[in-house]
Amino acid sequence: MVGVIGRFAPSPSGALHMGSLVAALGSFLQARAQGGKWLLRIDDLDIPRVESGAINKIVDTLEFFGLRWDGEVLYQSGRRDDYARAITYLKAAGYAFDCGCTRREARSGRAGIEGPIYPGTCRRGLPAGRTARSIRLRVSEAPIVVTDAIQGCYTQRLDRDIGDFVIRRADGIVAYQLATVLDDAYQGVTEVVRGADLLSSTPRQIAIQQALGLHTPLYAHLPVVVDETGEKLGKSTGAIPLRPRNGAAQLFQCLRWLGQSPPDTLHDVSVSRLLEWSLDNWSLSRVPGAPRLGGR
Ligand code: GLU
Repeated sequence: MVGVIGRFAPSPSGALHMGSLVAALGSFLQARAQGGKWLLRIDDLDIPRVESGAINKIVDTLEFFGLRWDGEVLYQSGRRDDYARAITYLKAAGYAFDCGCTRREARSGRAGIEGPIYPGTCRRGLPAGRTARSIRLRVSEAPIVVTDAIQGCYTQRLDRDIGDFVIRRADGIVAYQLATVLDDAYQGVTEVVRGADLLSSTPRQIAIQQALGLHTPLYAHLPVVVDETGEKLGKSTGAIPLRPRNGAAQLFQCLRWLGQSPPDTLHDVSVSRLLEWSLDNWSLSRVPGAPRLGGR
């Protein structure tokens, strides 16, 4: 029997903050509390957004918090051949198509959940005189249901909600949706535990899995950490990077956010003692759901 395999896949666009620590901790506890493996993958495809030194900072922070991964770190930048093979297959099998539209042309359709729906201009072949810029996945009208272990059922109809989406950008960079699906499959991931800001991406990832004949892992989307004004904590909202001190107090806060109830007596213990308690007492069913971001 294949055991549980979880993963944490940060983008090295900056140091980890409280929101990313919650995702790291939640995925770590969910995998390890079941005796499974927990892998670390660095989503470093989007080179223009990679911040120098961020990878070392991420690794140091995880180590400081006692979140030790199994095996070697996987870098998406080393996986380009696999992505290229999948794109060749998707195009040959009719699941993907070349798109010659400029950004502006592609955004001229009606509104969807994450911006305008692609108007379908190149769906049946590139119009005369056009050259391919990006590659898109051809979506269908069949509803895609995510049965999320925390958020419940979440459904999208990709044709109405998202549209034919980009799997390789005009700058040649493979899109997050495709790379993530291929890497989760390559690493044998059985449970994807991550922030609920990615719930609306999941139907696109399932559509790619279906096209490639890949297994769909279990999905569990954790509540996104927000500040007092309700804004998601992230680099763009000025979230302060985690500090390598008071580790247990910061973990304690994350556990509370995840609906776990560490006793107050554990507030000032060592990080390893608090992690030990967390592994013994982890319960996914106590993690609170989050408000929906589009979809149904
Ligand atoms: N790299 C993505 C991020 O940092 C997460 C990818 C994932 O967990 O699927 O937002």
